[in-house]
Amino acid sequence: MAKLISVIVPCYNEQESLPYFYEEICKVAKEMKDNKFEFLFINDGSKDKTLEILRALAKEDKRVRYISFSRNFGKEAGMYAGLKEAKGDFVCIMDADLQDPPSLLPQMYHIITTEDYDSVATRRVSRQGEPPIRSFFARLFYRLINKISKADIVDGARDFRLMTRQMVDAIVGMEEYNRFSKGIFGWVGFNTKWLPFENVERIAGETKWSFWKLFKYSLEGIVAFSTFPLALSFIFGILFCILAIIFIIVRTLIWGDATSGWPSLVCIMFLISGVQLCCLGIMGQYLSKTYLETKKRPIYIVKETEKDKI
Ligand code: UDP
Ligand code: MG
Repeated sequence: MAKLISVIVPCYNEQESLPYFYEEICKVAKEMKDNKFEFLFINDGSKDKTLEILRALAKEDKRVRYISFSRNFGKEAGMYAGLKEAKGDFVCIMDADLQDPPSLLPQMYHIITTEDYDSVATRRVSRQGEPPIRSFFARLFYRLINKISKADIVDGARDFRLMTRQMVDAIVGMEEYNRFSKGIFGWVGFNTKWLPFENVERIAGETKWSFWKLFKYSLEGIVAFSTFPLALSFIFGILFCILAIIFIIVRTLIWGDATSGWPSLVCIMFLISGVQLCCLGIMGQYLSKTYLETKKRPIYIVKETEKDKI
């Protein structure tokens, strides 16, 4: 029986790339003519003509579905909405800018159906065309998070992956508000095959990720998948107690009380209060995430889907 493949495409201001993307994905669908397809576009509160393009596509092509959010909720929310609404036996997530080459899909499908894998994921082996400073911090982040977290997060991993219905259901079951998909994909387990590919630059439009946005996203990843930073404040505390004992008590015992020395005193005061503030900040990060989780706010709000326009 023909299996249904859902292709989820999060779109935020993608009016330039969408026509190219649609053309490309149609070519792939034609190539895989034994399968049925569903293209599920998520309009993440775009301010350009993305929604108009999607409406037009949905009118012409019955395979096209779309979900339009009431505002920008971020790519994570877009992917979650897509996974939740997808009906396919197999589900694939892809960027709209062709940085995740749709031409890899037949190969991915072949692997998932013939070999014993639940998911075929991709990772780029080069970061060509990316600012070097961004690559440097990205590498640092992956090294750090793999040291302090149990979730297996692969350097260069894209969100571009094909999954079985079983794995998708597991992911949809994780309803946390602070989502970090790269961690969630690893956390749910299942067998994943990694396909390496060379980085491709985006076809049109520009990236939506500034350095600051990426920095905040990486913090999110750390806080969501590791509690090591919480232990850090404890370690700092112990360290400073030991330092105080050695420096202040032992020193005084051996060399007697030195009257001179207020600069060092002020120095120590600043240092310790700095460390205290830092630890408080770490607590604050976790507290704020817990606060947001307990509110149980929806991850996204739908304003319009293709069904509203028929
Ligand atoms: N995207 C989204 N919501 C956002 C930001 C991005 O849905 O708030 C989508 C975007 O339209 C694209 C994908 O996420 O399809 C990846 O974004 P982008 O290409 O800007 O990221 P980069 O490839 O530079 O990491
Ligand atoms: Mg991109």
